[in-house]
Amino acid sequence: MTDGPAVATEDVFKRIDKSKDELVASLLDLCRVRAIGPANGGEGEGKKADLVRGWLKDLGLKPERFDAPDDRVPGGKRPNVVVRSGKGNRLWFLCHLDVVPPGDAPAWRVDPFKPKLMDGRVYGRGTEDNGQAVAAVLGAYRAVLDAGATLGRSIGLAFVADEETGSGHGAKFLLEQGLFGAKDTFLVPDRGASDGDEIEVAEKSLLWLRATVRGKQAHASRPDQGANAHRAGAFLLTLIDATLPKRFPGSDARFRPSTSTFEPTKKEANVPNVNTIPGEDVAYFDCRVLPSVRTKDVVRVARELAAQTSRTFGVQATVDVVQEESSPPTPGDAAVVVELSRVLQAVRRLRPRLVGIGGGTVAAPFRRKGFPVAVWQTTDQTAHNVDEYARVDNLVADAKVFAALMLGRA
Ligand SMILES: [Zn+2]
Repeated sequence: MTDGPAVATEDVFKRIDKSKDELVASLLDLCRVRAIGPANGGEGEGKKADLVRGWLKDLGLKPERFDAPDDRVPGGKRPNVVVRSGKGNRLWFLCHLDVVPPGDAPAWRVDPFKPKLMDGRVYGRGTEDNGQAVAAVLGAYRAVLDAGATLGRSIGLAFVADEETGSGHGAKFLLEQGLFGAKDTFLVPDRGASDGDEIEVAEKSLLWLRATVRGKQAHASRPDQGANAHRAGAFLLTLIDATLPKRFPGSDARFRPSTSTFEPTKKEANVPNVNTIPGEDVAYFDCRVLPSVRTKDVVRVARELAAQTSRTFGVQATVDVVQEESSPPTPGDAAVVVELSRVLQAVRRLRPRLVGIGGGTVAAPFRRKGFPVAVWQTTDQTAHNVDEYARVDNLVADAKVFAALMLGRA
């Protein structure tokens, strides 16, 4: 490394420090927009996409739009805003525009869509998830350009819709547009630790199972004439609950918890009155399975248990898959992971750890297509909570990491 680029990097960082108020202002502007997806009862990301496109144009960039058709929102389109700079293998910064509903709005310290800066934190829905990343990526790019520095690599910026409700009109749609080169890599700033020292490289597979028991409804005084689906269902539920952790006991220290998990969750209501023996019983499991376990093996075992229940109780018990999502981990020696680690050491004096998580991020569809993805940012993990917030210090510090990556040097 020569002196020249090192000086320029410092200059970019100084500009980021000086632009703190501007970063906060853009985060506040973003979070005043109610960009809730239609599946959650909102009108989508249109207004927020216009805001971001305006900022990109102010930077002299030419944002492209990739609109996914969706009749449920005004205008019928879900916007995905993209900037491509340079040619060849790009490093993509992938952020999302949509937010989840506030939940228990009266419980908030602020009106969730009137974000407020208090004690070094910006409170409001969408501040951490994912406004902080949008503001930091844009702020980093602005600082690089203002400093007169040149990008050290080809980069892409993507501000996508629909992350909170499956990404079908967002990242998954973009993946079908032929936009990404085979050697592109991705940084998804949508999850992280308070110290900024966790790079997520792996996700457990998500597997939702529904266990249905069909018996025979009868008067509760005449069980001899019925087949109690509730009793058989309760048996099956506890059998699955006790068996799956024993059959799939592996552990992987990158994850918290380190094992696969199999949680009974939703339970459908059966009869409304006490004196009827239920003819049907339906319960659900949310399973988060380590990448080393094949989800189809979990399904096979659950179905064996259903068959055993059918035989024991004279009912018809079945297990079906409601949802299944798995993605291969990004290797720890993938260039994007190695480079991000180096930048975090150089810029933030951190020794990052590679971790796995149980929840799915937008990294999954990219990893399924073979792209390396690092998921990283600095947050207190308040996403989706009441009183969601983003720390201003994290906003500034993350912008420096993004700028260093854009410059291609630490
Ligand atoms: Zn998010």
